[in-house]
Amino acid sequence: MDVLRSSHRRRTPQSQPADTRQRRNSANGYTFALDDLGRLRRFLTLGVDGGTYYTTARDLARDNAAVVARLAETDPQGLVTTIVETSTRGTAPRQNPALFALAYAASLPQTSQRALTALPHVARTGTHLFLFAGYVEQFRGWGRGLRRAVGGWYLDKDPDAVAYQAVKYRQRDGWSHRDLLRLAHPQTTSPELKDTFDWIVRGSLGEHVPALIEGFIQAQQATDPATWAQLVHRYRLSWEMLPDAALGQAQGWDALLDTGIPQTALMRQLPRLTRLGLLPDLGGRTEEISAQLTDPDRLRRGRVHPVNVLVAQRTYASGRSARGAGTWTPTRKVVDALDAAFYQAFGTVEPSGKRTLLALDVSGSMGTPISGRPLTAREASTALALVQLATEPSATAVGFTTGRGKNWHDSALKPLAISPRQRLDDALRVVDAMPMSGTDCALPMLYATKNKIKVDTFVLYTDNETWAGTIHPHQALLEYRRQTGLPARLTVVGLTATEFTIADPTDPGMLDIIGFDATIPSLITDFARSN
Ligand code: CA
Repeated sequence: MDVLRSSHRRRTPQSQPADTRQRRNSANGYTFALDDLGRLRRFLTLGVDGGTYYTTARDLARDNAAVVARLAETDPQGLVTTIVETSTRGTAPRQNPALFALAYAASLPQTSQRALTALPHVARTGTHLFLFAGYVEQFRGWGRGLRRAVGGWYLDKDPDAVAYQAVKYRQRDGWSHRDLLRLAHPQTTSPELKDTFDWIVRGSLGEHVPALIEGFIQAQQATDPATWAQLVHRYRLSWEMLPDAALGQAQGWDALLDTGIPQTALMRQLPRLTRLGLLPDLGGRTEEISAQLTDPDRLRRGRVHPVNVLVAQRTYASGRSARGAGTWTPTRKVVDALDAAFYQAFGTVEPSGKRTLLALDVSGSMGTPISGRPLTAREASTALALVQLATEPSATAVGFTTGRGKNWHDSALKPLAISPRQRLDDALRVVDAMPMSGTDCALPMLYATKNKIKVDTFVLYTDNETWAGTIHPHQALLEYRRQTGLPARLTVVGLTATEFTIADPTDPGMLDIIGFDATIPSLITDFARSN
């Protein structure tokens, strides 16, 4: 045999590199790698809770911390700017990764000053500040710069805003405002601010204490529903400011609904409101709550992340809480409203009009949870595919994995029977029921080639841990282009915070984007449309 014949350029098994830039992924296949900024974005958006199928959360956290450290050396400004942008745009369902990265950057000499200046932009609530305080202690002590930055977080707010933070976000992970004010010791000449600090640190009630603090104290001391309702109206108290006894009463919640519950808090409280009888099938507060849930302005202003709507929808529709023993009978109108809110959370997506093959990696590794939410990568990609199906008139969806046992190199690709007309939790069940096996990310392109399906855009939802195929995915795309003459594109939606991607970074017809993010559907259609 001519050994030169075995050195293929167009067809390389995924167990071997097809390109010198490729690296071995966690499944022992070879894939391209993202640069550090790309990897940072994945980390900030997706987090590391739950790890991946191949990597523990701890190892993934360590790898991503190393990315932060490298960027502090090579691109300190890019590092801090990316943290601030990801956080303020609401692209991540949770703020923990951004606060972690900022805390680490605040401990590195190249980025410390920039990171501390950015603190109020990333830590926007008391809870964020407590999380930051916890993370920052992992990396550094409470030097002067850090104390000044935390003190500044309080000093730059007006007294009412500090009072609001103090009574709404009281503590988290062992941190309280009292702890932070004692460490930072901010000095002020404003009598209102000084009395607010004194109340937080010592519990003393000076004459300049903001009214909200008085309202909070009265609510904590009250014992009857009528008084709580009155106080909620007078001081516009939020639910976090009421004692537990008040939260078990319909009257208190009625008042809270009158003054308005922010969108994300409302979604979380739906089971409780249902149990208390406020959301019956007919009457009650059902109509107005359903309208609020789907209100596009409220969704946008509240920076409501689609992942959190999806989790709320599935939890609510299931009628029982993920953690505790709580159960309720879901109200159909509310379930429908959460369904609609999920699609609304992406804003308006302009269809590209292109022939689009949505291909979901349903292999075993996609069964791991993403973003620390009770949602698998499989389920997240199903939900994203539904948004694309609702947007794109010529789109169709398939699920792909390899065959089982000794047929591991065969294709088990199947059309997916999901539709945006289905309820979200039903569509998720369809994909959950599919068999999972090995991973070959070339399968969608091979399927389209073999069946002569005309495709302008392939969209693959995957963790990029491809290993089983006899040809690399980017080679399969080139082969598809050659055989059909169509300049087909490939968008890869990465669903884990690793460095791997099957997209060739130098091919302008291939794009790697981060799932799960409210901007994904628009990014996909923009790329499909662009020249
Ligand atoms: Ca896999």
